[in-house]
Amino acid sequence: MNMHKLPYLEPYKGMNTRHICPNCEHKGVFSFYLNGDTGEPIHPTVGRCERESKCGYHYTPKQYFIDNPPDQTERKGWTPPPLKPIEPTRPMGVIPFDLVEKSTSYKSNFVRFLCEFMTIEQMREAGENYALGATKTNEVIFWQIDSIGKVRTGKIMQYNPSTGKRIKHESGAIDWIHNKLKQAGTLPQDYNLIQCFFGEHLLKLYPAATVAIVESEKSAVISSVIMSDFIWLAAGNLNGLSIDKCRALQGRNVVLYPDLGAFEKWSLRANDIQNQCNCKISVSTLLEDVASDTDRENGLDIADFIIKQLINKETVADIQGRFSPELQSMIEQNNVLMVLIDKLELEETKL
Ligand SMILES: [Zn+2]
Repeated sequence: MNMHKLPYLEPYKGMNTRHICPNCEHKGVFSFYLNGDTGEPIHPTVGRCERESKCGYHYTPKQYFIDNPPDQTERKGWTPPPLKPIEPTRPMGVIPFDLVEKSTSYKSNFVRFLCEFMTIEQMREAGENYALGATKTNEVIFWQIDSIGKVRTGKIMQYNPSTGKRIKHESGAIDWIHNKLKQAGTLPQDYNLIQCFFGEHLLKLYPAATVAIVESEKSAVISSVIMSDFIWLAAGNLNGLSIDKCRALQGRNVVLYPDLGAFEKWSLRANDIQNQCNCKISVSTLLEDVASDTDRENGLDIADFIIKQLINKETVADIQGRFSPELQSMIEQNNVLMVLIDKLELEETKL
């Protein structure tokens, strides 16, 4: 049998392994697909451009061999692949900053929940760091402000103020500020949304700090209070760790804190990011190490653990009457506080 190894994208080994993109002609952004048997490029046009949203050129070996069947030994009439026409670059959509300022408020149910286990000072600091906003119906606004202070959009979410659990729309859809502004006619219908990390604006404020990335905005805000040496960013969802977003991490030390159940997916992503975005990245096994089977079934995240532990810190007498029944019942739950804090300190010293 004739077994061939599959073609693969050239791994990053310095800038001589990144080439000129045949589509957008940017230098150092193009990865060749290599022949799995020989390790040689298949063709200078077969590969992927890193500029996912600005160029998006991706010519796969499969398509190349459809366009150029390899059994035709005489390939005099080889035709170059059809290139994706370069669309005139649409300017990135930006939302006026005064909307952020106007929205800033502690009146969201999310912030009310934070007050269940944080001091007022901690709550204020978190609110200011992330410019947390609120709508008239007490939903929280998680603004996405990039590293040069441009506002890309805001995510609007409702929470139960006593349990901190999200209250979803029946449709499961998420409300976005840019969509609301489009509906109101304040933003153009072709608003070019390019998302960034929640918390990305903090990168510039703390240029030397280690960056920790979690999935949800809620986790980022809560973790930032407990481990304030890190800059906490949220990817927004399980698939929110895109290469384009991660370019903001260039030159940084980064630790990913995947939710339970997402470890493998984020570990794979970490390799791509490290190769393409020139940052040092590790994936924390913290939650995997301390989780019980029930935690796993529930797909807990780091915020769930922190909340449990903040509450465990205090004695039952201290908190009688101060917390909702749901939170009080959590006090009796497993005491992983010391384990978690010890682990985090260990991890910090490792960096
Ligand atoms: Zn390109």
